Amino acid sequence: MLKTLVNESIWDLDLEAIDPLLVKAGGITLSGPDAQWLETRNRKGEAVQVIPGTTLKGAFRAHGEKILRTLNLPVCNPFVREGADRFCGRAFDQRSHGDKKVSPSEAYADSCPACRLFGSTHFIGRFQSADAVPDRKLLTESRDGVGIDRISGGAYPGAKFEYSVVPAGSVFRTRIAIQNFEMWQMGLLALTLRDFMGGFIRIGSGKTRGLGGIKAHLTGWHLYQFGKSSPGREMRGIGAQLGQTGKAYRLVDGPDSLNLSEALGQSWQREGLRWSLAIPAADRETVLASLSEIFVACAEGGKLPRVAQ
Ligand SMILES: [Zn+2]
Repeated sequence: MLKTLVNESIWDLDLEAIDPLLVKAGGITLSGPDAQWLETRNRKGEAVQVIPGTTLKGAFRAHGEKILRTLNLPVCNPFVREGADRFCGRAFDQRSHGDKKVSPSEAYADSCPACRLFGSTHFIGRFQSADAVPDRKLLTESRDGVGIDRISGGAYPGAKFEYSVVPAGSVFRTRIAIQNFEMWQMGLLALTLRDFMGGFIRIGSGKTRGLGGIKAHLTGWHLYQFGKSSPGREMRGIGAQLGQTGKAYRLVDGPDSLNLSEALGQSWQREGLRWSLAIPAADRETVLASLSEIFVACAEGGKLPRVAQ
């Protein structure tokens, strides 16, 4: 995608487990529970449980795709290998011959809405999530699971397994960055984040066992615009910022800016070529709601990218 940085939004999130949570480490261990937590080191060098950034990105993507499909907007299936289903990355592979590669602008222009935001094998997406880690090691609880006999419906002899969870109330901290966004993309992420904040999304293992409910708390929101001229009172998408330069990317011809002065009495601070704005806690809900409306306006106006299935 673009070689220059045009805009950026950074969310600081606390993810609070509202159910016991298990994000499994891959592989098999010789001792201990059959399924246990993935660990990393925190800033103090202590081993702590971790929710990998890729897990969070996957949860955002899956929920975003669900919203798009609900609005009857086709998105591709990244796990498809062959058959009728489309995966943007594979479609571009088939169009590349020898030295003739699909250009980043072409790949962006012809990608489904989900790949435009989260990326595919042909270009990196706009969305990045850091690993979510607690500030100290959390105590885990061991649980027993049983395998169900498919004939009797009862417990299958010898099919007992053990898994470890962190209890409800555990808090993981992370940061999500969205760069070079169009406003409909911020809108789709705002809708998704609101569902995370409402506690409607589950992550990790054992979702059908009642594990994995989390509630997000938006603890910080920084916006950046890059360029010589002041964004004024606006938050701008790359279409509004680039004008004709963005034409090859076939950006969405819908509302691509938001007037923030109606939402908050803040103005942009200049830091060299970078303009920054921190959205105060009291205004975050309002701005998320306005962004969601932009997404819905683009979707209902038939402006979002449609790809051939
Ligand atoms: Zn796609």
